[in-house]
Amino acid sequence: MLTENIKIGHVNFSIKETENFDHSAQIVYETAVITLKAGLQQDFLASSVWHEVCHAITSQAGISKMIPEELEESLMECLSNGIVQVLRDNPMIRNL
Ligand SMILES: [Zn+2]
Repeated sequence: MLTENIKIGHVNFSIKETENFDHSAQIVYETAVITLKAGLQQDFLASSVWHEVCHAITSQAGISKMIPEELEESLMECLSNGIVQVLRDNPMIRNL
């Protein structure tokens, strides 16, 4: 069971896993909670967490209000998958 906190901008989000969840992941800003469906495959778990992190970053910057939802979702998928791949394939980047 994954239960962690992650600080994004000025907000300390809780990450919680739950059974019987309709989405793979979801972020709720008002309660500062990122919910993950229990049992996600590790690669999909990583990209799902990053997807919600990217949502939080763009929301806090006000970018979410400027772009259509469909475009935002595509951007979050692009960024989250790219971040997971770059971090995994280039561990040295964490020390820059
Ligand atoms: Zn999304």
